[in-house]
Amino acid sequence: MGAPPTRPADRALTKPRRRLTSAVAALIALLAVGAGVLVGLSTPAPAPADAPEREFSAARAYRNVEVIAAEPHVAGSAANDRVREHLVATLRGLGLQTEVQDAVAPEAGQLSGAAGGATLARVRNVVARLPGTDPTGKVFLVSHYDSVQTGPGGNDDAAGTATILEVARALTTGPRPRNDIVFVLTDAEEACLCGAAGFAGDHPLARDGGVVLNLEARGSTGPVIMFETSRNNAKLVEVFGKAAPHPVGTSFAVEIYRALPNDTDFTAFLDRKFVGLNSAYIDGGAIYHTPLDVPARVDRGSLQMHGDNALGLAREFGRTDLGDLSAGHDDTYFPVLGGLVRYPGWLTLPLAVAALLAVGALGWLLRRRGRATAGTLAAGFGLTLLPVVVAPLGAWLLWAAITTIRPGYAELLDPYRPVWYRLAVVALSAAVLFCWYALLRRRVGPAALAFGGLAWLAVFGVLLAVAVPGGAYLTTLPALAGALAGFAALATRRDGPWPVVAVTLAAAVAVVILLPPVVLLFPALGMGMGAVAALVAVLLGLAVLPVVDLLHPRAGGQRGLLALRARRLGALPAAAAALAAVVLAGVGLAVDRFDAAHPVPTHLMYALDAGTGKAAWLTREEKPQPWTDGYVDRSIAVADDFPGLGNSEMRAGPAAAAPLPAPKLDLLSDTRTGDQRVLRVRVTPQRQVRLLTLHVDTSTATVRSASVAGRDVPVEPGGGKWGFGIVFHAPPPEGVEVTLTLVPGAGAVSVRAMDASDGLSGVPGFRERPEGVGVVGSHSSEMLAVARTYPL
Ligand SMILES: [Zn+2]
Repeated sequence: MGAPPTRPADRALTKPRRRLTSAVAALIALLAVGAGVLVGLSTPAPAPADAPEREFSAARAYRNVEVIAAEPHVAGSAANDRVREHLVATLRGLGLQTEVQDAVAPEAGQLSGAAGGATLARVRNVVARLPGTDPTGKVFLVSHYDSVQTGPGGNDDAAGTATILEVARALTTGPRPRNDIVFVLTDAEEACLCGAAGFAGDHPLARDGGVVLNLEARGSTGPVIMFETSRNNAKLVEVFGKAAPHPVGTSFAVEIYRALPNDTDFTAFLDRKFVGLNSAYIDGGAIYHTPLDVPARVDRGSLQMHGDNALGLAREFGRTDLGDLSAGHDDTYFPVLGGLVRYPGWLTLPLAVAALLAVGALGWLLRRRGRATAGTLAAGFGLTLLPVVVAPLGAWLLWAAITTIRPGYAELLDPYRPVWYRLAVVALSAAVLFCWYALLRRRVGPAALAFGGLAWLAVFGVLLAVAVPGGAYLTTLPALAGALAGFAALATRRDGPWPVVAVTLAAAVAVVILLPPVVLLFPALGMGMGAVAALVAVLLGLAVLPVVDLLHPRAGGQRGLLALRARRLGALPAAAAALAAVVLAGVGLAVDRFDAAHPVPTHLMYALDAGTGKAAWLTREEKPQPWTDGYVDRSIAVADDFPGLGNSEMRAGPAAAAPLPAPKLDLLSDTRTGDQRVLRVRVTPQRQVRLLTLHVDTSTATVRSASVAGRDVPVEPGGGKWGFGIVFHAPPPEGVEVTLTLVPGAGAVSVRAMDASDGLSGVPGFRERPEGVGVVGSHSSEMLAVARTYPL
């Protein structure tokens, strides 16, 4: 292969100065578009406390954040009781019919609690209703008011709850909506989504379903993203685009979210055939679920965005005919400069095929016009795979190197100040792309390389359309725009302005479509998966290659010294980007150090067998931090001794036995019929605990059926010694009654009861963390578990 021969006419038109002017103009235009994209993704200014009463005010909402998140308020705690009383009083103060749903509820979705068993909680949901004037259905505004045990939940989800209180206030000041609006502040979301499941499954107001708007946070800042919808979302997304003042949402997020292990209350509603939208802000993930998630860490701009959108959507759904919202199909949708573009999902595959055909036609045309040969086109296509593979690999290696230097990052969702590392990954992707381009441009030719980039975008478009339809637009539309620009460039005079205008327009389309996912994927997936953002960054780079090419002297024009100079200039962007990547990573390491305000997260728990007096320190850290390492010295499987802690391996170390009682087990009745035994027991915690578990040794009996607090639970065979188990969150002080119908073996039936409280202060041998050492945001951090086996 080699560069196609340059025609004399073209050579005569090689005017470096004009080319440079074009390049600068095109780059300025793209930078302006990029800035517009970032503005479109930014949060609004928070409205002050004296904002008009019909509007949402972050300052007013924030007062409630401060009350709700004054301290950790895990489900079942006294602090949670105080929060609930505040919510009830506030909603009643607005004149709303308000009640507390007090129930035992099962978990929602597929959260794992017990191997081969069931998870439940005692929940107390706060439910208030604003009756509509002529209802066609109900609109549910949902957030959870409980927090994790490790932190006060300023963002997660006091922000969502306070948003709903402020939306309720705003809705009660104006004319009443046509549809019923129901405010559902759920309990025990953190434990098992049990509050939402209890409301969706059992509450009379939930019987006929409706539209759910769920408000969440998985961080402390950034734009509110509408990241999840019910199926057949076209009409919901139409309302979202119309009524949300800041409609940041993409059908791609739905696909990403499904691949993540997170769940929210929304899952419980989807289980019950509700329709709706799920929104959250997710940047600033370092403090998620930690003691640092205090009110002061709530970004008022994110809070304002939550409220503006929730109020706009509540008003619009409040007047919409809710009869046929779930009809139709799924939409493809994505943010474009502050608005929302959407088209029906059934267009996805035809568009992807059209893009592929268009790029194919462009290749054919490039060959006919002598801009490329079959050989260079094939080479362009094959060699484009290099940056697509190398840039993500490089991002992964970069993060591996950074976490080797700073191992404390292992337990963080994202660094405290991730921006430098994100920029480093983008710079690295650019360096890979520029370097690849500089090396191949003269050999393969710019036209063939541009074709290679577009061809891969089009191929990805088809693959996505089949496998991940909501994300196909990401590559299909830039490929289509690039092909059309190619046609336009070939149809106009090569030395005129139109080819540059055409490729710049196509590049602008790519920036509008691919820059938001680069920006949003970093917080969504964390730096550990920065490779995904690097991949999207490279795809964006491939789409703007024709503009990048303007920075290079026209191919084939020079010989000798001039060519050498050109090659040197061509290497300049690659070298600059590589240098930037190194500098930015270094700045990240220098700026984002662990200190008192940004502690290195550590995970520790304590488990005691009150029957044998054996105790252990446990951690889920795979490579324990120095502080944790003072407690643990081996790896053990905990499932046999503490079945309530799951069946993974943990690092462990010996501990002194604390004088703590195990939960008491009372046998209330024991009846035998045929080969079956029905055991009715009461398990009662002997101290203030967050959860209670009861497991049956399935080598001593086969469990046929079970009920907890009068509620039947599913019985599926599980693995291991304790093959059936129940996890009960927020147990009442009087304990929980469990009925087991089983077929016993020859001897006694062996059951193991465990409970868990939070906080390790006072446990013998525990030393308070020094400054700079913090707590991992996890549901088992600081847990204190006590277990005992009872033969029955
Ligand atoms: Zn949470």
